[in-house]
Amino acid sequence: MLYLVPTPIGNLDDITLRALRVLREVDLIACEDTRRSGHLLDHHDVDTPTTSYHEHNEREKTPELIARMRVGHDIALISDAGSPGISDPGFYLTRACREEDIDICPLPGPTALIPALTASALPSDRFVFEGFLPKKQGRQTRLTELSTEPRTIVLYEAPYRLLRTLDDLIEHFGPERPAAVARELTKKYEEIERGTLEEVRAYFAGCTKVRGECVVVVQGVS
Ligand code: SAM
Repeated sequence: MLYLVPTPIGNLDDITLRALRVLREVDLIACEDTRRSGHLLDHHDVDTPTTSYHEHNEREKTPELIARMRVGHDIALISDAGSPGISDPGFYLTRACREEDIDICPLPGPTALIPALTASALPSDRFVFEGFLPKKQGRQTRLTELSTEPRTIVLYEAPYRLLRTLDDLIEHFGPERPAAVARELTKKYEEIERGTLEEVRAYFAGCTKVRGECVVVVQGVS
């Protein structure tokens, strides 16, 4: 059995009782970064063996994990933060499980996109999650496509690219489009900045340096 176990996006207390039980009971935890996850596992007294599983080794590592699950071992997949498979490794392994008829048990839990969306005060009845925009090739095409999207759009972004992305959104969507940026969710310096794209951009342009992880939420076209 493969368990997909979401882990905190900042605050180490944001983990469910069931997630902790599963992490203690499985035979192996496949972690995006064993050192980073080690901190979380130590904090919660989980001493299950770990192995690394990330975007650079998932192709070689998947057959090994599948072989273990085929002989009856249970494995939990966790990423550095949030839900595995959401802009993080997971899809390659779940597809292999499906091909091999191995059960997948998904646990609900932390992810950055939902709190950013619900706190944005933008319509949350229908939304589209776009993950990270392409960095170069395909970026303009994606932005052009999204400019006519009627649902609320949720994007992930690194802090050092935030202003550039807000500039691109202003260029394609216009400066008046309502938006929000949720930064450092669940952490000490959590902030949610709401306004038009232009206002949000001006706020972050006024900060000495944008730090921490960000989710950008933009209202769809009306
Ligand atoms: N698997 C994760 C999830 O379920 O949200 C996403 C992993 S992705 C590699 C990392 C991105 O998620 C960051 O660049 C940022 O856009 C977003 N993110 C993760 N933690 C966050 C936080 N505490 N506050 C705001 N955004 C966060």
